Amino acid sequence: MPPAMTKVKSRTVFVPPRRGRGTVDDPLSASGVRFTPQRRQVYEVLLSKRDHPTAEEVYLRAKSRMPEISLATVYNCLDTLVRASLVKQVNLNRTAARFCPNMNHHSHFHCDQCAEVFDIDGDAGTRRTAGRLPRGFKLRHLEMSLHGLCPTCAAKRQ
Ligand SMILES: [Zn+2]
Ligand SMILES: [Zn+2]
Repeated sequence: MPPAMTKVKSRTVFVPPRRGRGTVDDPLSASGVRFTPQRRQVYEVLLSKRDHPTAEEVYLRAKSRMPEISLATVYNCLDTLVRASLVKQVNLNRTAARFCPNMNHHSHFHCDQCAEVFDIDGDAGTRRTAGRLPRGFKLRHLEMSLHGLCPTCAAKRQ
């Protein structure tokens, strides 16, 4: 293998993925967002417990570590993080938006019983759906939402 090719390869391996996992600082700085202590705090709250909290829940958790943070600030921080593609906003009919820091390809499973939201890895169904788009449409983002019972609730029903 010529030396030039080896170089290219190692460079590819060592550049951290733009939206990959890693330390908290990496995706924040890579996104180009200026991260204030408040934004960092909100992002850390989302990363520390991945249960898809609502903005109010994020606020309560952030407040315990940063008492001066306001709900309005939390809303602004979440908005910034969503626009920077660091966090996903998960919407479910008639309930408050929830927030998810998992930017890997996944779908959300909403339990109708306990209202928890679970990450389901993979894109088995979504690729097929994208293939069925009418001509001329260019897909950039697809979110599939699944509804039903989580394993715990399903077991209780039996
Ligand atoms: Zn459940
Ligand atoms: Zn999620």
